[in-house]
Amino acid sequence: MDFELKGKHAILTGGSRGIGRATVLALARQGVTVTTCHVRDSDDVGSLADDLAGLGADHLIARCDVADEAQVERLVDQAYERFGPVDLLVNNAGVISHLPLDHLGPDEWRRVVDTNLTGMYHTIRKALPRFAPGASVVNITSAVARHGMPAAAHYVASKAAVMGLTRALCKEFGPRGVRINAIASGLIETDQMGAVSDEGRAKYHEMIPLGRIGRPEEIAQAVLFLASGAASYITGATLDVDGGI
Ligand code: NDP
Repeated sequence: MDFELKGKHAILTGGSRGIGRATVLALARQGVTVTTCHVRDSDDVGSLADDLAGLGADHLIARCDVADEAQVERLVDQAYERFGPVDLLVNNAGVISHLPLDHLGPDEWRRVVDTNLTGMYHTIRKALPRFAPGASVVNITSAVARHGMPAAAHYVASKAAVMGLTRALCKEFGPRGVRINAIASGLIETDQMGAVSDEGRAKYHEMIPLGRIGRPEEIAQAVLFLASGAASYITGATLDVDGGI
């Protein structure tokens, strides 16, 4: 499907794996120039660069911890100097851990909230002066922000706050012609799902009306839609992409 994004410049956080990687590649296939980041050194980075080179896509992949304001500023500056104004910001980088509250210490609370929520505050704030006219932002949140989940209060709280951040900023950004939306992702087959047993998976399949776990590419398609002119009157929304869960 052609989302008419050719020639645009996107910054996407956390493009080395999972949903971020699928979205970087989907954007590149649409003719979008992508700046993306990762936080660890791994083979995933080289393999993403190879795939982007294979598509003939101009791109920048840099190391940047979204929780660190100075690193985010450097990433945005690099992206702007290389590719010019930013048409799309996709806030995808995120981390999860599974701990009941009595084992959830302040360091782990901060690690998750700083990455999942404060990271978005940094990227949006630093990218704002670099936005092209008609730019948009897509924030990746989670279905569990609507339903709750045991042993993940830090994760659920950070993802619910992303919905609030999106609604709040749509009021500020609308008059500037910038749209901001979120995607509440259901269960998607990525490293975040890695530790789930076969029994756990079978339970999920029963819970999900469409009867299966989603693919990263299915979130990527929703990002393309929200970034495109087809979503020109959508802002402040959270789109559920979760198989109906
Ligand atoms: P993965 O664990 O597969 O990938 C996470 C990505 O984020 C990696 O590229 C990772 O980089 C990057 N990242 C992590 N921390 C940082 C940081 N501090 N700074 C910059 N980049 C960072 O996750 P998913 O693809 O599964 O998830 C992507 C998003 O979707 C997350 O926000 C997640 O919460 C959300 N989500 C996922 C669901 C799922 O079922 N998978 C369900 C609902 C929401 P590196 O490779 O360097 O570690």
